[in-house]
Amino acid sequence: MQKFKITVLRGDGIGPEIVESALRVLGRVEDLFGVRFEREEGLIGGAAIDETGDPLPEDTLSKCKDSQAVLLGAVGGYKWDDLPTDKRPEKGLLRIRKELDLYANLRPAKVWEPLIHSSPLREEVVKGTDMLVVRELTSGIYYGEPRGIFEEDGKRVGINTMRYTEDEIRRVVRKAFEIAGKRRKKLTSVDKSNVLEVSALWKEVVEEVSKDFPDIELEHLYVDNCAMQIVRRPNTFDVVVTGNIFGDILSDEAGVVVGSLGMLPSASVGEKYALYEPVHGSAPDIAGKGVANPIATVLSLAMMLKYSFGMDEAAELVEEAIDKTLAQGYRTPDIYSEGTKKVGTSEITDKIIENMEG
Ligand code: NAD
Repeated sequence: MQKFKITVLRGDGIGPEIVESALRVLGRVEDLFGVRFEREEGLIGGAAIDETGDPLPEDTLSKCKDSQAVLLGAVGGYKWDDLPTDKRPEKGLLRIRKELDLYANLRPAKVWEPLIHSSPLREEVVKGTDMLVVRELTSGIYYGEPRGIFEEDGKRVGINTMRYTEDEIRRVVRKAFEIAGKRRKKLTSVDKSNVLEVSALWKEVVEEVSKDFPDIELEHLYVDNCAMQIVRRPNTFDVVVTGNIFGDILSDEAGVVVGSLGMLPSASVGEKYALYEPVHGSAPDIAGKGVANPIATVLSLAMMLKYSFGMDEAAELVEEAIDKTLAQGYRTPDIYSEGTKKVGTSEITDKIIENMEG
């Protein structure tokens, strides 16, 4: 039997509940596909601060480095809100991404037919939307030097630097081309090359890399135009690749176009490691009540099956089971609408598992 090793970081708030759901789904995958996932558990965020004083203890990091993929719930909560910024739970997240060199952030935005009415856009505009934003995660303006607030001629001046080396661009763009090759074979590269030199280099490198992927249709869009097109014609996008700050904004925009926060998964991948987590936070307002929507985390698990373990069929089975569950009318409170059946975290997980037929 094939064996894999993953690290599970439940985190804070609703983290433990939604990760539990994903692990139950994983159990079903193991039974259906005859594989085994050895699970190591580690502490992160507030739970880790309480236990060790550090939001990312060394033990957690070494477990992550010793496994093929990491599944994370969410971190943070009221209890730790007053700690200084560098000691807060969220610092653990930033550090783990950096330590594992997770340079590409993958954010799918897919419309679920039964939830199409929760989109702020008209049904005919959003119908069929299934896009994936690949955002460069470890460089660009969020990291470039010089940065800071300085004084010039007695006045304050704020400075940030948008900086990319060609290697940083090439690796994330290559990843995006590879992903597009496994989807509908269309890649949109987003930049601001009419104004920024760093973007002109981005575009040049994209063109160079594209020569290795002749079967992928490539388009270039300026970021301002792309932001408009995402609301005008979201269903025409497949994979979108862009730098850190543009990706931050566009991935949130794409997420809101398709609906609820509780439905959005993500992956952060590098050469050696990968981490899968829902887009939402630890939702401390509903933690422990058994009402959290586990679907974003279950979808993050499906991404793990696909991208870390090449189990495309299992990933599709999980997605189809979610689709069926929604079509049967089951909803957690965050996605509930009149005429549907309101259920809690564990009940909706039961339904998803029931709908996973081999
Ligand atoms: P949040 O995403 O946790 O919650 C926003 C709202 O959405 C809340 O009303 C919450 O109840 C609801 N919500 C979120 N996920 C849900 C789910 N799965 N099911 C049902 N409802 C859901 O954002 P926030 O309230 O701004 O932040 C709460 C804490 O989470 C903070 O400490 C913040 O720093 C942290 N946070 C962590 C991450 C992460 O771990 N990746 C991301 C964002 C925020």
